[in-house]
Amino acid sequence: MTGQTTQKAWLTAAKRTLSRNHPNLTWDSFAYLAGIDRRAFKTYRMPEDSSDYRKMPPIVEAAIKALIDRSTQPVPPMSENVPEDFSPLVPALAALVMRQARLSLVEGKMIAGNTRTQGVPVGLLPEDRKAMALVSRACLAHGQPDRGAEIHTLLWQCTRPLGEWLPVLEVIDQGYAETCFIHGEDGTPTAEAEEVASGFGGLTASIEEQLFTKFVEVLGRFPERRACQDYTKVREFVVRHPVVANDVLRKFDVDVSSQIWMLLQQQFYEPVPEAWCVGEAVPLCAHCGNAMKQGKAGLVCRTQACAASRPATIGLQAKAADLMRVTRGIRQYWIEPGLDEIRLYDALVEMGLTAELYPHRDRVDIAVGEIGIDLKAYTSPEILGRRFQRSLGGLAHYPRKWVVVPDWLLSATPSYLDRLKTAAYREELLFLKVSDAIRLLKGEVHA
Ligand SMILES: [Zn+2]
Repeated sequence: MTGQTTQKAWLTAAKRTLSRNHPNLTWDSFAYLAGIDRRAFKTYRMPEDSSDYRKMPPIVEAAIKALIDRSTQPVPPMSENVPEDFSPLVPALAALVMRQARLSLVEGKMIAGNTRTQGVPVGLLPEDRKAMALVSRACLAHGQPDRGAEIHTLLWQCTRPLGEWLPVLEVIDQGYAETCFIHGEDGTPTAEAEEVASGFGGLTASIEEQLFTKFVEVLGRFPERRACQDYTKVREFVVRHPVVANDVLRKFDVDVSSQIWMLLQQQFYEPVPEAWCVGEAVPLCAHCGNAMKQGKAGLVCRTQACAASRPATIGLQAKAADLMRVTRGIRQYWIEPGLDEIRLYDALVEMGLTAELYPHRDRVDIAVGEIGIDLKAYTSPEILGRRFQRSLGGLAHYPRKWVVVPDWLLSATPSYLDRLKTAAYREELLFLKVSDAIRLLKGEVHA
């Protein structure tokens, strides 16, 4: 950088140079590629008279120069050296995760991501091998260690944010850097993996549909009104009881049909393993009732949404033999999103509003009069936005359509709502955080 050029102008010129090879380069992906903290990078781009302005340390300038050198090396014009198109990389990987999850959750085999050390053989289809090879080539082309060669290693990597182990432009530019495809806790695929995989690689019914086939089938035999009531009753009970005492579960509402009751007892719940004991008993979370586990600094709730949003507080303790827990698929599809849904629902009821939970068998999460509310906790606003761009889902049935995101998620992700709005590109949707949704509805109550 010469004495006359401002830092801002120099960085803008650097970005322009890099953009020749990376047409969609954003400031964030620029920072990522150069290994610079995103927030620090912003201060370097400020005008010099701004109070936020910081001078770039020499090491940062050197990193950017090295990045430009790497990126602007001419590609030899021979056809075999044409850079490979990695645009299918992320969807192919997500589809691989979903196929493995299907084996695990629907057909009852263990997911490989959790059995890395046990080396359980996993049936790999040709498209699985293709996806793995694509990951391998992307790693090697970007000077990374080969992380696609072995299925267990690859699935284990998928429990980490993609940007940490697959730092390639196709990941960074599409907003996938912070996204994990598998929950580390129990090896189930994340909502993001499911969304990115949808429409790729010929997946038919969603895993959720397959898991709940029996439930839906039994409900389908009832008159509509009854079916909707029982659906909400069962789901609300489950969401409020990620772990439940045996006798409480057995006493579950006698009004529901015996088939639904049996499903709840036998398919939605399973015994709590002894391994969940800390000392003699299983500690339960005072907020949500789920079991707690040993974390780095003491006990933490096993529901991620709970652990991320409230201080760990131990409630009751009970013997493992006296408890049941929801099965893995249910945890993934009902419990994790359910925590914020129930919290919002309870807040609305407390305000005196007539709110319906999971109306019409989960058309939306909550309905308040003509407002349909979907509560979504995706790490990536881009993936969530694209989901709504593809389809409004059950919100289409409501004149007013709200997409509500938990406050704890917003504070962890910069410009979440703006990014979500841009990605969804739907004027009919109102995007807001939970606390604002409550405030807005309170205003309407008092108006
Ligand atoms: Zn909890």
